[in-house]
Amino acid sequence: MEQKEKERRRPSGKGRCLFCGRSQEGCLEINTRDGKTLNLCGECLEVLYGYYRQEHQRQPVEAIPTPRQIREELDRRVIGQEEAKKILSVAAYNHFKRGKLGRGIQKNNILLAGPSGSGKTLLAKALADCLNVPFVIADATSFTEAGYIGADVESCIEALLKKAGGDVRAAEHGIVYLDEIDKIAKKGGAPGNGRDISGEGVQNALLKLMEGTTVQVRSGPARMLAQERKTAVKTDQILFICGGAFAGMDEPEEKPAGFLATREPRKPKQHRAEDFIRYGMTPELMGRLPVIASLSELTSRDLVRVLTEPEGCLIGHYQDLLKLDGVALTFTDEALEGIARKASENGTGARGLQTVMEDLMLDIMYQAPEEEAPCVYRITESSIRTHLPEITLLEELQEQMAEG
Ligand code: ADP
Repeated sequence: MEQKEKERRRPSGKGRCLFCGRSQEGCLEINTRDGKTLNLCGECLEVLYGYYRQEHQRQPVEAIPTPRQIREELDRRVIGQEEAKKILSVAAYNHFKRGKLGRGIQKNNILLAGPSGSGKTLLAKALADCLNVPFVIADATSFTEAGYIGADVESCIEALLKKAGGDVRAAEHGIVYLDEIDKIAKKGGAPGNGRDISGEGVQNALLKLMEGTTVQVRSGPARMLAQERKTAVKTDQILFICGGAFAGMDEPEEKPAGFLATREPRKPKQHRAEDFIRYGMTPELMGRLPVIASLSELTSRDLVRVLTEPEGCLIGHYQDLLKLDGVALTFTDEALEGIARKASENGTGARGLQTVMEDLMLDIMYQAPEEEAPCVYRITESSIRTHLPEITLLEELQEQMAEG
């Protein structure tokens, strides 16, 4: 920008805001196309910008995908969990239809119960992406009852508004994922669950928020504003998805050992509200979570699919990285099964895959940039132990193929 232009745009420090009329220290001089100069203070500029965005942004609720379309989107990113996907697709569809109809239909917030690393958070995130609505993840254990030191439950709405870029309407149709909801269970449910009595207090604090209330949240870039501004956000159209592992809720089943034993997919037990109440969730909170979907532990076969099938899957990620070094990366089926087996041993579900892959690929990625000619790295089952791939020069491979 030309120096002159810069000077014209810089805060004048003495203007009177065109909108609020207040004399503001940091008023901006804005030059209109017809050569006039307007003074606007930061606060009014922000309001105007919010209004502009509200009017021009895509309105997510106008075009709701059908449950089948939602399900197809989820399928592209999430492996297995078929029942949960179906429940979630219908619940989300009804939730947004409810928004169109207005009040009258019960709000259907969702509870996802399933082991760690089975895809609860991923499902919620994929749903928000599919519906094109703002999405935040909040950890239920970070909340405290009102009046105590710590984050209050309303902080998740503040985060949602921030995620929506200050667009109140978008935030009011967003999705909040409350993780670790089982950790705020009352003590006295299943052994080892819950924390102290404040867990129940947080559950109570969540009731209004989940049912529908108006929250006054802090908004706007605080640095720009002399006074902190509050924005009213209604929560009755916000979809709350709670997720938790609820470890120990079911009677422990006899688990067969070994890789093959976990190959057959097991149907997840469909839990009911009573199960969660027995665990330590309050009946009132369960009343706000009418949709319950249970996720099952991913089998080793699922984990192999997680490695290779979803958009942005881990194997594709490493293949893309090595391609830049002129190395084509391939995996044998046995190698993939070995990786899945190793990940399932540490009991963190699909989350463990990343750790196993990073460990396996470290030496390989260290070596790849030094290859002098394009080559193929073949990861076999023994590579998992040795961290060494079978290397073939691309030229040799092409010759072998030409020879038949
Ligand atoms: P949690 O059930 O603990 O919320 P996450 O959804 O956070 O688990 O999963 C952690 C990571 O594991 C995800 O980012 C994803 O990469 C992978 N993952 C977990 N479950 C699945 C699944 N069913 N399909 C595909 N990837 C999955």
